[in-house]
Amino acid sequence: MIKINGARLIEDLENQGKIGWKKGEGLFREAYSEDYIKVRDYVERRMKEAGLKTRVDTVGNIFGRLEGRDSKAKTILTGSHLDAVKAGGMLDGAYGVIAGLEALRTLKESGVQPRHSIEAVGFIAEEGGPLGGTYGSRAFTGQMETPPSDEVLESYGMKKKDIADARADIESYAAFMELHIEQGPVLWRKKIPIGIPTAIVGITRYKGCVSGEANHAGTTPMLERKDAVYQTVVLLHEWLEYMRAQENMVCNIGYIDVEPGQIGIVPGETRFGIEIRSTEKENTHNAVNKLKEIFSKAEICTANVELWVDKPPVKLDEKVIDAIEGVSRELDIECMRMPSGASHDASPLARVMPAGMIFVPSINGISHNKEESTEKEDLIKGAAVLANTLLKLDTILA
Ligand SMILES: [Zn+2]
Repeated sequence: MIKINGARLIEDLENQGKIGWKKGEGLFREAYSEDYIKVRDYVERRMKEAGLKTRVDTVGNIFGRLEGRDSKAKTILTGSHLDAVKAGGMLDGAYGVIAGLEALRTLKESGVQPRHSIEAVGFIAEEGGPLGGTYGSRAFTGQMETPPSDEVLESYGMKKKDIADARADIESYAAFMELHIEQGPVLWRKKIPIGIPTAIVGITRYKGCVSGEANHAGTTPMLERKDAVYQTVVLLHEWLEYMRAQENMVCNIGYIDVEPGQIGIVPGETRFGIEIRSTEKENTHNAVNKLKEIFSKAEICTANVELWVDKPPVKLDEKVIDAIEGVSRELDIECMRMPSGASHDASPLARVMPAGMIFVPSINGISHNKEESTEKEDLIKGAAVLANTLLKLDTILA
């Protein structure tokens, strides 16, 4: 077992959290912004000070490498992202990068040279935006089936070639580990410091449309209206009641637009988005069938739903999960297995190599908010589990 430097971890976390922080508003550190480059430079400097070999790839992901003693062994990768949502907190993403750095410098100081080389990575543009979410990690793993348009890329100073050039030789990697705050209330409520995700939810989105007829809101009798809002409410009510009775699955109607959207006109049309998240493909499949069945029951308007996004769930690696659990036990830190309801850089990584995640509690379950916070002792425990799991993977992986 190695012992990380908790005070140094917290100091680095606080230092990086000041870059892009606006008082009273939170962290503003969008990918490719001036503050983003500043934080990446900060991380690079700290990596160099720790004696790691650094590189920034063609899309802007940063790596710090600790050379292993067996040049034929594959590389173990750990990290997360350095960008943040607007008005977000200082832990979402950056915690996993700084903890990866702390793990590697602890190893270096302890004089233990691992057999595998180990790299700490700070991925770019994980949060959604014009580039699409998990942009840096998808470029790294070569999962860019629908790349952003040339126009969008150009606005960030990039070309399609940069995406292709950022693609790593995945065969040279043995595993990926991501430490992240939970961003939900489960661990905090249960007072368990370590969560071990077994799968990351799939996200399926449908666009819905209900078409009726716009008409005069004062003269058209109630029962003669082809009122799109009435029909939408009836259908979505049945759908939401169905979803509220399901387990291991959540659903969100994130917006409903009404046309013409005037108080004196009977609504002629509604358009809305329906999102389903689950770690089980079958759950989502059944829910989608139910959704279609409910929408086929529209009586006074026509209603339809159309597939918009379909990202399948990803299983995390059993070997890595067992390693994290074993290390937590050896460190006498309580842990539990759980699903991840949010998407992470680990999603694209887990599709191409064994991957695992470690969660720490978010105070009151709050994230994507300036109030996002985690107890210092939990932050230190998470980093300790990460560092020792990397060491364990070094002994068990080929
Ligand atoms: Zn994140």
